[in-house]
Amino acid sequence: MSTVESSSSAVQQPPSSTLPLLGDNQHSALASTSSSTASASSSSSGGGVVGVPLDTQNSGEPPAKKQLLDPNAASSSSPGGGGGLSSAAAASGTHEKLAYRISTALCCAVCLDLPKTAMYQCQMGHLMCAACFTHLLADGRLRDQIATCPNCRVEISKSTASRNLAVEKAASELPSECQFCNKEFPYKSLERHEQHECQERPTKCKYHRIGCQWRGPFHETTEHERNCLHPQKSGYEVMAALEAHDVMIKEEKKMFNTLIDLLSYEKIIFNDLQMKPYRTDEYVHKLFYETARFSAFNQQWVVKARINNSQRDPHQSNERTITYQLILKTKTSTPMSIHFFALKGPFSDMKVSTQIYKHDFTETSTESDYYVLPLPDGTGGTGSSECNRMLANKGINFRLLMFLLNK
Ligand SMILES: [Zn+2]
Ligand SMILES: [Zn+2]
Ligand SMILES: [Zn+2]
Ligand SMILES: [Zn+2]
Repeated sequence: MSTVESSSSAVQQPPSSTLPLLGDNQHSALASTSSSTASASSSSSGGGVVGVPLDTQNSGEPPAKKQLLDPNAASSSSPGGGGGLSSAAAASGTHEKLAYRISTALCCAVCLDLPKTAMYQCQMGHLMCAACFTHLLADGRLRDQIATCPNCRVEISKSTASRNLAVEKAASELPSECQFCNKEFPYKSLERHEQHECQERPTKCKYHRIGCQWRGPFHETTEHERNCLHPQKSGYEVMAALEAHDVMIKEEKKMFNTLIDLLSYEKIIFNDLQMKPYRTDEYVHKLFYETARFSAFNQQWVVKARINNSQRDPHQSNERTITYQLILKTKTSTPMSIHFFALKGPFSDMKVSTQIYKHDFTETSTESDYYVLPLPDGTGGTGSSECNRMLANKGINFRLLMFLLNK
């Protein structure tokens, strides 16, 4: 377990790494490499895929049938615009012009997002967020080319690029809007406010375990609980609620047991990925997300995601879900039984819970089904608010864990 923990906290670590568990020194050495040697190891640790030509979305021709969305156009265009694509920055009023101008100056030069994690800069001072930086390094490694700054083409590596703590600190002071009360707080204290302090934050009745369905803003909770009828119900009446609760706990236990089993597999790989928004070429454009190609188990893969399973008008619905699928891009002659799941990873603030999926990849079956990306209950109880928060970002960062069963 300790190798897993140490690797997850190391921002210095290359984005796509084989994760041999216990007994393999290579990975622990990798996780503890200092920044001066990391570039050397990152160019050789790509899992045997050096030299494979790739058509990633960042360069070369874009895959047919889609176009990369201009993030600015996405928030202003309306008819097919997916409704929730407005960013906090765009919504800022006139009195926040300074904050807006500062955030424009501090944003990542690649994805134009304001960093919520580490911020790097090239030797000429161009800023790149941690997710974009590792993405560029991975792209370079996969193409067997030196990674360069998209702005000035100077070479970038773990040893030539540096963190920019001033930008990170300044960004964490910029105002962000609370999603419940719409007041502004410095980004660094927003999470505490939304979870513990906001009077408007959605709250459950304390008797929800015995079946009370009430949900409401925090400031109405005391009043509701004083009048709640559930404490007066008989044991017989609350049994159904308790049983439903037990089923949930059982499911959770099963998931954790599966996870422990998977962790003893011989072949485990994780990749830190970024999905970018695209639109289909159809008459009614549909929004979807896709990662660049990445390598795992000597094959090339892609993750695709869509909103509300590409229903016709997702912006007309309040409920929002993200589903994703894993696609095998290279030919395999031997069937591969893959368990996989997405988790938050080091460059993301997505609140995703764990749900493990499985697909048997064969020559003829190269795409898994679309599976739910389980986001936590929002106000609507379906993960919609967290989903909207993800859609407002210019990319979705996550870590994909994959387990290959040896037959
Ligand atoms: Zn970025
Ligand atoms: Zn540069
Ligand atoms: Zn609030
Ligand atoms: Zn109640």
